[in-house]
Amino acid sequence: MARLLGKRALVTGGSRGIGAAVARRLGAEGADVAITYAASAEAAAQVAAEVERQGRRALAIAADNREARAIEAAVEQTARAFGGIDILVNNAGIFVAAPVQSLTLEDFDATMAVNLRAAFVAVRAVLPHMSEGGRIIGIGSNLASQAPHEGLAAYSASKAGLAMMNQALARDLAPRGITVNTVHPGSTDTDMNPAAGESSGAQVARTASKRFGTPDDVAAAVAYLASPEAAAVTGTSILVDNGANA
Ligand code: NDP
Repeated sequence: MARLLGKRALVTGGSRGIGAAVARRLGAEGADVAITYAASAEAAAQVAAEVERQGRRALAIAADNREARAIEAAVEQTARAFGGIDILVNNAGIFVAAPVQSLTLEDFDATMAVNLRAAFVAVRAVLPHMSEGGRIIGIGSNLASQAPHEGLAAYSASKAGLAMMNQALARDLAPRGITVNTVHPGSTDTDMNPAAGESSGAQVARTASKRFGTPDDVAAAVAYLASPEAAAVTGTSILVDNGANA
């Protein structure tokens, strides 16, 4: 499939997990791909090398989502190298879970900064470089619309905020021919939430399909939304959660 031939993508948090799978998938479908990372320089370089082996251009850029200037610089570097940006995937995220009595203000602020504020910063920075047909996709969570256990106040709020921000942005950007959507993964096997982790049995039990998700499941939905086939899809969310929220 080469649905994205000639497209230029920026994926935040592309060094590991879902972001890495998205970067590989967009590259496999023909896009040039830049990824950001916070700490994993080596892993990021490996993902970039894999994209290059697919015959595409790739960049790995250190940019901490907590720093607006770093995100803006990553966008500028990508736009300069590729000549523009057609696809922005706001994927980088952190998961902090603690009941409210022990959830600190620092936890709350960091969660909002990485999961929500950074996406706003990236969208604003990308717009001067994005033209008609552009795609903005956020990686939310099925915990944006359900809180099946305690401790989720900050995380769920950040992901619900991301989804609603994207829904509102769809109105702002439709006149420019840019779509804005959110993909909500359920339990997905990554460093953040390993399928072999101690709570994975309970997570699988919650799904309709009795299955733990893979990063490739999420990447497939992102690739669809990024493609020309999804031109009529904007201001909405796709749950990729094996029916956990059903
Ligand atoms: P991982 O922890 O496996 O990977 C996180 C990625 O984000 C890494 O590339 C990491 O970079 C990057 N990152 C983390 N913090 C920052 C930061 N401050 N600045 C820039 N990059 C950062 O997570 P997943 O792949 O599991 O999660 C990806 C997204 O999917 C997140 O938004 C998460 O909330 C969401 N999600 C995940 C689910 C799951 O079950 N796994 C379920 C639902 C949603 P580095 O390698 O440098 O640390």
